[in-house]
Amino acid sequence: MRLKAFEHLAPGTLSEACALLGELGPKAAVIAGGTDIIVRMKYGVAQPEFLIDLKRVDGLNEIRMVGDELRVGALATLTQVQRSDLVRQRYPILAEAALAVGAAQLQNMGTIGGNICLEPRCWYFQQGTAWREARQNCFKNGGSVCYMAKGGRRCWALYSGDTAAALLALGAKVRLVSSGGERTVPLEEFFLDDGMHHTDLRSGELLAEVVIPPPAMGQRGTYLKYRKRGAVDFPIVGVAAVLNERPGLPPHLRVAVTGAGSRPLPITVPQGIVSGNTLTREMIDQLADVARKQVKPVSRMEVSPHHRKHLVGVLVADALEKLLA
Ligand SMILES: Cc1cc2nc3c(=O)[nH]c(=O)nc-3n(C[C@H](O)[C@H](O)[C@H](O)COP(=O)(O)OP(=O)(O)OC[C@H]3O[C@@H](n4cnc5c(N)ncnc54)[C@H](O)[C@@H]3O)c2cc1C
Repeated sequence: MRLKAFEHLAPGTLSEACALLGELGPKAAVIAGGTDIIVRMKYGVAQPEFLIDLKRVDGLNEIRMVGDELRVGALATLTQVQRSDLVRQRYPILAEAALAVGAAQLQNMGTIGGNICLEPRCWYFQQGTAWREARQNCFKNGGSVCYMAKGGRRCWALYSGDTAAALLALGAKVRLVSSGGERTVPLEEFFLDDGMHHTDLRSGELLAEVVIPPPAMGQRGTYLKYRKRGAVDFPIVGVAAVLNERPGLPPHLRVAVTGAGSRPLPITVPQGIVSGNTLTREMIDQLADVARKQVKPVSRMEVSPHHRKHLVGVLVADALEKLLA
């Protein structure tokens, strides 16, 4: 569990960080809070020669309003996010999700950028080098088996970040920057259904900030998480739901699930299910069924795919009942 030697680089601006990342390419990795990447380096899963530390990048941890949108800098810690008045008043679901990550120590160090970019996990790959070397290589280290799915023909590592589900349900976007320019991408396009490459981050690109659209009048949301240990654990399944009740119109609902695949998944709510002025018990049952059918878990990590699917339905129903109450 000893770290291999690496060079620590601490740029002071975003453009310096992007220049370093562009120049060093795959030899370098970004470190924000370090609560994930250092663990992976200790396990020998990530072996960058250079770590580009974002902590000294000026202004990257700010949480501020730009017009009517909230901008959360990638380096804002999860503690900062859950304590921010702007977040608590406008998007309490995001504060709830940040508070659900691991435990207080991880929230103090871990950042929103690192939480979104969190590498998908798998029980084979998250072991020491000697343990892995005693077995056939998986896709991530050049082999052709996936230990997460029997007979898997691709990497089915599981995405388990908590805040991504809440941000998807809020309709958030991410601003990505590189030496060549910048682009803003809806979160649902940012995540890819691939355990090896789970984001659309291109070579030399960094996540600079999260952009959250203004909440509708009376918007309510909640994030529910099922995990083995309440004290500190990744979600086996996490469900975020945001409901907007609109006078004279059917309520608008967004639901997203994390922990059930290689990316966090927005659930498509079919037209016609949600009608009238508010949700009803019948609609909730139908929506839980819709979510259960849309997730296609294959991973056997911690629970069977069948049980994971069942949990999605239970958590969606619980989240919607909570919003109704
Ligand atoms: C015991 C334990 C329990 C945990 N429990 C949970 C949990 O319940 N829920 C959960 O969601 N997470 C959990 N985690 C994972 C981790 O602590 C959090 O996800 C944390 O938010 C990661 O943020 P970080 O800043 O420390 O990321 P880092 O470790 O610094 O980085 C994580 C990854 O993101 C990349 N990255 C970081 N910032 C950027 C950026 N701005 N642009 C591009 N790439 C970037 C890094 O290169 C790295 O690949 C747990 C970790 C441990 C050790």
